[in-house]
Amino acid sequence: MLEIRDLNVYYGDAQALWNVSLRLDEGEIVAIVGSNGAGKTTLLNTVAGILRPRTGSIRMLGVDVTQVRPERVCEYGIALVPEGRRLFSGLTVRENLLLGAYSARARPHRERTLEEVQEIFPILRERARQLAGTLSGGQQQMVAIARALMARPKLLLLDEPSLGLSPKMVDAIFDVMERINELGVSILLVEQNVGRALEIADRGYVLEQGRIVREGKPDELLRDDGIRRAYLAHG
Ligand code: ATP
Repeated sequence: MLEIRDLNVYYGDAQALWNVSLRLDEGEIVAIVGSNGAGKTTLLNTVAGILRPRTGSIRMLGVDVTQVRPERVCEYGIALVPEGRRLFSGLTVRENLLLGAYSARARPHRERTLEEVQEIFPILRERARQLAGTLSGGQQQMVAIARALMARPKLLLLDEPSLGLSPKMVDAIFDVMERINELGVSILLVEQNVGRALEIADRGYVLEQGRIVREGKPDELLRDDGIRRAYLAHG
């Protein structure tokens, strides 16, 4: 479904990604793990069209989307839930959600999609008229995920969805990711919570200093002493 080949991405003269290649098959949850500054956000933002790679290619369902602008990437079935959520805090939950369906592909179905999305997040139906900025952090994260789903994506890019949330909310967010995946949406997940991410992932990639250093099934990665020491609290 998603095929990334030899991406090299720079901020000015500073290279942030080095020959990054990865693939995600239809229906998969793929986790990208790695420490602070490894380049995880850079990778997602490049797939979402926010950053332009200097070289390399990104293909979605066989179509080259490397040069597609961020506001058009949803037309190709890709939606990003950015780090820090980026909600419109002065708009209501409902208004935030409807903004997710601005594309020509999603707009005609937006009332029906809103119903479906509120089935996944019943709390957002209850809070539809509340200003997004007055919700708890976990609820705001749900709005951010729900807004991305309003674009009817085939592939959801999730950047640190559990960051800063209470343990109960972290559980809720991981449950929701599995549910969304069961409904047919593939997921590329960036997480610092490596243990939890690998629990729900079909495969994982380890990114270190802008390079993919390991790829494998979660159990293979979790057996690796280096990975356990670097990313899991119990070593
Ligand atoms: P974090 O989890 O802390 O966000 P990350 O793995 O997502 O880390 P990135 O944010 O992608 O890492 O950063 C990768 C590298 O690119 C880092 O060295 C970072 O300092 C650098 N970088 C990120 N954004 C910019 C920017 N806007 N301008 C210059 N350098 C940047």
